[in-house]
Amino acid sequence: MLYLKKAWSLLRAVSSFVRWGDVPLVEHDRRQKICLGCNRLDVTETGVFCLECRCPHWPLSDLRTKWRMRDLRCPLDKWQPSARLLSVDRREDMARNLHASRADQL
Ligand code: SF4
Repeated sequence: MLYLKKAWSLLRAVSSFVRWGDVPLVEHDRRQKICLGCNRLDVTETGVFCLECRCPHWPLSDLRTKWRMRDLRCPLDKWQPSARLLSVDRREDMARNLHASRADQL
């Protein structure tokens, strides 16, 4: 079950990257600063990883990649998906609610 959840999370993160590109630089730097001060950070010869997420140590789970992806969050919730993604979600929620309220009026 954990692997399915991780695969789904990876798919969402990669698709957000393809759809919207990198997080804003200020958000990247904020995430990086938080991780560099975290005791769950693991710096190895092959990359920079999070011990909390328990992902395999491969390029897509390197934090230098994760800091760039919009639809990702820290497993300890120290940083969240980027604001633009949240605002897009909010817009979609509002559109759904508006559509539902119009359907109720008919
Ligand atoms: S992702 Fe979260 S738990 Fe992992 S190193 Fe960064 S701040 Fe720490």
